Amino acid sequence: MICEVPLQSYLSFNDPLFERLNSHGGKQPFKGDCRNIEDVDNCLCLVEIEDKQLKALRSLLLSLLRMITILLMRPPLNKEMNSDPKYSTIRFKLTYSFLIMARKMLIDGELGNATEEEAHYDFDLFVIGAGSGGVRAARFSAQYGAKKVGICELPFHPISSEVVGGVGGTCVIRGCVPKKILVYGASFGPELEDARNYGWELNEKIDFNWKKLLQKKTEEIIRLNGIYKRLLSNAGVKLFEGEGKVVGPNEVEVTQLDGTKLRYSAKYILIATGSRAQRPDIPGQELAITSDEALSLDELPKRVVVLGGGYIAVEFASIWRGMGATVDLYFRKELPLRGFDDEMRAAVARNLEGRGISLHPRTTLTELVKTEDGVKALTDHGEELIADVVLFATGNSMPSLFDFF
Ligand SMILES: Cc1cc2nc3c(=O)[nH]c(=O)nc-3n(C[C@H](O)[C@H](O)[C@H](O)COP(=O)(O)OP(=O)(O)OC[C@H]3O[C@@H](n4cnc5c(N)ncnc54)[C@H](O)[C@@H]3O)c2cc1C
Repeated sequence: MICEVPLQSYLSFNDPLFERLNSHGGKQPFKGDCRNIEDVDNCLCLVEIEDKQLKALRSLLLSLLRMITILLMRPPLNKEMNSDPKYSTIRFKLTYSFLIMARKMLIDGELGNATEEEAHYDFDLFVIGAGSGGVRAARFSAQYGAKKVGICELPFHPISSEVVGGVGGTCVIRGCVPKKILVYGASFGPELEDARNYGWELNEKIDFNWKKLLQKKTEEIIRLNGIYKRLLSNAGVKLFEGEGKVVGPNEVEVTQLDGTKLRYSAKYILIATGSRAQRPDIPGQELAITSDEALSLDELPKRVVVLGGGYIAVEFASIWRGMGATVDLYFRKELPLRGFDDEMRAAVARNLEGRGISLHPRTTLTELVKTEDGVKALTDHGEELIADVVLFATGNSMPSLFDFF
């Protein structure tokens, strides 16, 4: 008998048979017990047996559910119980739950009956972008029944661009995680200073090694990048390294590192490509950096100007100040962290000033000029300031969807 092998139902990615079957796109008709590598050319129809058993089981369960629902809806014979409102509420809740279960089973049953056309897609789901969203969607789809799930991601690099990224995405590689490592690193400075007031005698000179901290941060994100890759492969998701594009209603193209292009059909395509830091359109804007570069600076800056009042601006201002830099924070509103609770915003503003960060509310930058001594930042209040680093933390913008077509 001839069968189509739903690869991931039976095999793990490590199974040598997986590769052999996968090289046929997982759709090649096989004979024999496909779980046995020796029997690949000579086997039974696993899919057909499984389908028949499932259908029989489903209709049995549905009949049972129908019977239970009818029984529950029937008024009780006992008259006292019948007039008890508690009893009717319980009865209503039970009936409702059973109806929902029955409906779900029916829907699952429908989904289970893939049409010929559906069965011939290379992937049930193909995800473009392996950040927090993409990885989660791919893993969970694979774990909850999608048989063939693919995902593509740009090659790893801590500073993102059109051509580099990395599995784990912004949060893991150039967002939450590396930022927190720097926040923790920076928090020791004021603590050590404070410790002197509590009897600690820190007599020897205490040095801070920026390069070492960055190296530790890079090691950690490489470790997490590996974990994310393993999470995907353990869930049975096939990872492609390269740039993804949608090239047809159900077709994706992945341009690999060496320029070769792979094309796959997919029943569903998910674009999960996140967003990129944006730069305000002012003269000299190319002299500033964004959070991507801020997490990988070669040298620790001594003078910093930060533009933006959101959490990324506030966090980087605190990181650099904690490491001893002078920091000027410019933002448009009266207080930083627009959208957060007002009392909390006021408390944060006081704390930032308490740490020695100069706040410039209702002020923005109008121009940046390269000087011998650094970058000159001009403000709309006519002030000028020289800094080693100017950080734009003015929000992110989504890439246009048309970039993916
Ligand atoms: C500095 C910073 C600090 C942050 N701190 C926090 C925090 O503390 N807590 C928090 O909850 N959030 C934080 N965030 C936000 C968090 O990182 C994002 O909300 C989250 O990463 C969004 O996930 P995503 O999957 O939508 O996109 P992303 O994580 O950006 O993933 C999208 C992926 O798609 C890839 N990609 C793009 N185009 C293509 C293509 N054509 N082909 C293949 N792959 C492509 C990219 O390389 C990227 O890896 C922070 C962000 C930043 C920048």
